[in-house]
Amino acid sequence: MTTTESRTVPALSGIHTDLLIDGHWQPAASGRRFEVENPATGEILASVADAGADDALAAVRVAADTQARWAATSPRARSEILYRAYQLIIDRTDEFAALMTAEMGKPLAEARGEVAYGAEFFRWFAEEAVRIGGDATTTGDGGNRIVVTRRPVGPCVLITPWNFPLAMGTRKIGPAVAAGCTMVFKPAELTPLTSLLLADVLREAGLPDGVLNVVTTSDPGAVVGAWMASGLARKVSFTGSTEVGKLLIAQAAEHVMRTSMELGGNAPFIVCDDADVTRAVDAVMVAKMRNMGQACTAANRIFVHRSVFDEFADALTDRMSTLTVGDGAVEGTTVGPLVEEKAVAKVERLVADAVGRGAQVRCGGARVDGAGHFYLPTVLTEVDPDSDLVHTEIFGPVAALIPFDGNGIDADQKVLSLANSTPWGLVGYVCSENADRLSDLADALEVGMVGLNTGLVSNPAAPFGGIKQSGLGREGGRLGIEEFLDVKYTSSPIRRR
Ligand code: NAD
Repeated sequence: MTTTESRTVPALSGIHTDLLIDGHWQPAASGRRFEVENPATGEILASVADAGADDALAAVRVAADTQARWAATSPRARSEILYRAYQLIIDRTDEFAALMTAEMGKPLAEARGEVAYGAEFFRWFAEEAVRIGGDATTTGDGGNRIVVTRRPVGPCVLITPWNFPLAMGTRKIGPAVAAGCTMVFKPAELTPLTSLLLADVLREAGLPDGVLNVVTTSDPGAVVGAWMASGLARKVSFTGSTEVGKLLIAQAAEHVMRTSMELGGNAPFIVCDDADVTRAVDAVMVAKMRNMGQACTAANRIFVHRSVFDEFADALTDRMSTLTVGDGAVEGTTVGPLVEEKAVAKVERLVADAVGRGAQVRCGGARVDGAGHFYLPTVLTEVDPDSDLVHTEIFGPVAALIPFDGNGIDADQKVLSLANSTPWGLVGYVCSENADRLSDLADALEVGMVGLNTGLVSNPAAPFGGIKQSGLGREGGRLGIEEFLDVKYTSSPIRRR
């Protein structure tokens, strides 16, 4: 909903809700604002500046003008800014967590976990900033000296989704700052407030004016389109849907911009006949229910060997039934709302389709009436592999169990062909007590990341990312900073004495 009225609930009164351009908080040129809703209550939390193409262009010009000055700062200075920001985020854990819970719904305990995880990207990249090295070599025949150096790629366009409002930002801003890149940053329109607080923290940590420019908008196509067409940015780093990612890759082609794409997933979760069922249920609860199932890494298709199917389905249904659904701001809530009404409607449609094709509802299977966008934790068994939810990201608290059969390698082949029959390739999970089998299945899954007897793969020290239509490039770990660096080599003759 768009408005020109500035509204902020008292608890959020310290947060800037304008655009951050060249170190100044300023309204959109049009004066327009848009509202941010609490998905648990329907309450309007605040309104934020609603930028258009003019604001976007002003921001990217600042980023371009600031680039050379920022690139000339010492790696140690950039590292210290990131480290101070890391500490400030940790000090303000409760504030960040409450804000995330308010604007996107995740339970407070999960939000606190995201604060720790998100802050850690700053600490990790503070340490990487001072290790941007080069190489020196000579050609094998004693010819030229070759010196390889790394430089910031230049001004970057950063775009994040709503599901991890802090961590998706720090995962991009951390390496960009470490590498010496300036930024224009557009957070998701459903969750701009966490990013605005993050920008404030970075300024408090000493980030110079113009390095990070934050633009909120209800018209992402116009703002990002202006950045991409401007020719002033050298790189786009995007996390979001495959559909928008493809559009940005096409736009990036115009100026041959570098791209990093963290896109959608359709993760297979495989429970083998020799799995420890209790351990497998623990793992799937994390892989499925984290963030109410609204994660690109969510277990979307749960393949369970027929010999353990009933035992697994019963145990999972029991665990799901212990969850507490409600406002994430209430301590003890384990399942918050979905992010918006559209999300609930999508889950309803997918479950109805699966049930129409013969799936059994073991628990849940319905929305919760009243204020907020709630859907009950759901277990579906005997899901037909042709069901829509097998071919789409569910993005909700619905565990879709699909049986498979066979013995030994035959069973592995059958489940692999099901698991790999998707255009996505972000992450896969395998539960088994046989180490050789785990290694073989991990090798054969067409994905960028694998969880073996675990439902959690996200870690700032690891290269997060996918293959196939799940994306290009990696975020986190040593590789994360390479995405923001160009390589240059210099060749010169070696003088012989
Ligand atoms: P989305 O693609 O709709 O939006 C993501 C971002 O793109 C938002 O900031 C949005 O404003 C912006 N956007 C929308 N239209 C745009 C356009 N025309 N031009 C430029 N930017 C535009 O995705 P979402 O619904 O916010 O997030 C959910 C998706 O993100 C899921 O597919 C999920 O799997 C994916 N995701 C991937 C990862 C990963 O690391 N691979 C992590 C989290 C989420």
